[in-house]
Amino acid sequence: MNSKIIALMLLPLLVACTETTGPAPVQTKPAPTVTRSAQSGLAAFNRVSRRVEPVAERSCRAIHKNANPKFCDFVIKVHNDPKQPANAFQSIGKDGRPVLTFNINMIRSIQNDNEIAFILGHETGHQIATHLSKTQQNQAGGAILGGILAAALGGDIQSGIDLGGMVGARSYSKGYELQADRIGTYIADRAGYNPVIGARSFNRTKGSNAFLSTHPPSQDRIDTVNATYTQIKAAKAKGQRTPPITW
Ligand SMILES: [Zn+2]
Repeated sequence: MNSKIIALMLLPLLVACTETTGPAPVQTKPAPTVTRSAQSGLAAFNRVSRRVEPVAERSCRAIHKNANPKFCDFVIKVHNDPKQPANAFQSIGKDGRPVLTFNINMIRSIQNDNEIAFILGHETGHQIATHLSKTQQNQAGGAILGGILAAALGGDIQSGIDLGGMVGARSYSKGYELQADRIGTYIADRAGYNPVIGARSFNRTKGSNAFLSTHPPSQDRIDTVNATYTQIKAAKAKGQRTPPITW
């Protein structure tokens, strides 16, 4: 495993003793959006992760009842590379479990616990809505197109394939991002956070970091979160304690 990866070890039965392990956070030139120390950011991230992960896992299992138990067993990691622009993403680990990776500048740019909860919820939303496997299918299509394009232009077919894959992933992602925002709104609310406050980071960062550069315009996202939260509150007012997640 990459030594820069700090595993937070969010095993459901060990949540009370979760600690951040690994080397002390390195502080060099921070990204422009960085506003807090690595220590303060990591403490907040650890605190919020402990609350959000079990909620996300339970919510995921309620939707994917017949899936492999690993499907909803989230691993949360911090990538401690201060040179990377702020970023968070979801992937699948070698063991088949979904991995949510936040890099250190993402953690240092988040201003409050609601924001951490919402972004964590958003990343779990990509897994819950199976976006990665759907995007990989799209990427496969994009890769073939990129290869054909490169061959036609007399270029390097391998780089054409890589380029095509990237273009495929990006061009299919925006609708999925809004779906993940809806799911993230439910997850943050269920974990006891305010997703509307959580989504305010969209206004602040305005596409200046990698997390947002592939994401839809801020206002679309804020509107989605506001509308979803209004629906959740309306369902609760009617007596539904845990309104079912839809996206
Ligand atoms: Zn996303």
